Amino acid sequence: MALIVQKFGGTSLGDVERIREVAGRAVAAQKAGNDVVVVVSAMGTETDALVALAHQVSDAPNPREYDVLVSTGEQKTAALLAMAIQVLGVPARSLLASQVKIHTDNRHAQARIQRIDGELIRGELERGAVVVVPGFQGISPEGNITTIGRGGSDTSAVALAAALGADVCEIRTDVEGVFTSDPGLVPNARKLARVSYDEMLEMASLGAKILQTRSVRFGKQYGVPIHVRSSFNDKEGTWVVPESEIMERLVVSGVTYNRDEAKITIFSVPDVPGVAARIFVPMSDAGVVVDIIVQNVSTRGHTDVTFTVGRSDLTRALSLAERLAEELGASGVESNDSIAKVSVVGLGMKDHAGVAATMFQALSDEGVNIEMINTSEIKISVVIEEKYTELACRTLHDAFELDKIVAQEEVL
Ligand code: ADP
Ligand code: ASP
Ligand code: MG
Repeated sequence: MALIVQKFGGTSLGDVERIREVAGRAVAAQKAGNDVVVVVSAMGTETDALVALAHQVSDAPNPREYDVLVSTGEQKTAALLAMAIQVLGVPARSLLASQVKIHTDNRHAQARIQRIDGELIRGELERGAVVVVPGFQGISPEGNITTIGRGGSDTSAVALAAALGADVCEIRTDVEGVFTSDPGLVPNARKLARVSYDEMLEMASLGAKILQTRSVRFGKQYGVPIHVRSSFNDKEGTWVVPESEIMERLVVSGVTYNRDEAKITIFSVPDVPGVAARIFVPMSDAGVVVDIIVQNVSTRGHTDVTFTVGRSDLTRALSLAERLAEELGASGVESNDSIAKVSVVGLGMKDHAGVAATMFQALSDEGVNIEMINTSEIKISVVIEEKYTELACRTLHDAFELDKIVAQEEVL
């Protein structure tokens, strides 16, 4: 008998009819001889609505109360799904994070899961029940409700699968797997049969919201097989697996985009030791996460420093940058929040030259100006004007012939 953790996303639980369908899938998995734990997201866009409500009441919602509020979406679906499973004649029980004991730290709205107790769940499984756990929530050491960041139900599911020693963690969603690019933006994107944890980590952290980055990190750390597949059918989806299980290392396996960043430039900063620290230490102390940094060659002892930050941090980062520019005697500060970061990711880049050349040429042929470049062993990212995001993704998808390469993988 296998133990399956199935996670269903918000779209898959958007209304009562869909909740009934999900109940049917959980029951079918149990009838096939498995122990089943279901992790649920909030219905549709409910979390967005709860976040908006909090901001209507307060410009800076109290973090503890914010988590009490936004965690309710998942609680609602967990109860409804347990009821719907019971209607099908199968015992089911919802267990909140405070009951299971999903322990997190106390960083409200972005808490980290630290430890999960499996006992209560195991007891329910032994008596033949399907267990339904609301994703996204945990409890802090002080016993307060926490939430683990947007898209966090993926992480709840993979962490639960790790804690319970599950045979598989199924991420059921509104697409049929992990594609070579967002199928909503690139129509000829293809489903990958397999993707390595490392490629998936890069893709997720570079904007492919199909999986929350931390869920992939948990999967890799604890060796949880993750199967990303449709909520609406039983077609084989995409397996996220160790690199050793990848038969063919694609040079590029994914094109991703991120529209959540903004760019700040500090002009004519004195080019002397310690300046980067005087800019970026205060940024870090203020909790601003800086992504790409570019420093130009200095002319006459001065240089320009450009960096990107999360768009929601822009106001804070900009006023800090303006203060620092004055202290440093820089000539001015400029910001731009109409940018996008477009990236290509692939294991095969490790031993293939020319990926950057192909990428830059393809963008140049379409007249897309590259404002910043960042590379690592298995990815190349460029910052461009936001209005070119779709064009850039489609162009790069074609340039690396991703529609063709993936077809071969499927044959294997
Ligand atoms: P859920 O509500 O099930 O958690 P999400 O909206 O968080 O679903 O993630 C699924 C969405 O991720 C898809 O609808 C798709 O638009 C988007 N997406 C972005 N990049 C990719 C990709 N490379 N492969 C598949 N889906 C992607
Ligand atoms: N409901 C939460 C969100 O929308 C968590 C999740 O769905 O993964 O971010
Ligand atoms: Mg999601």
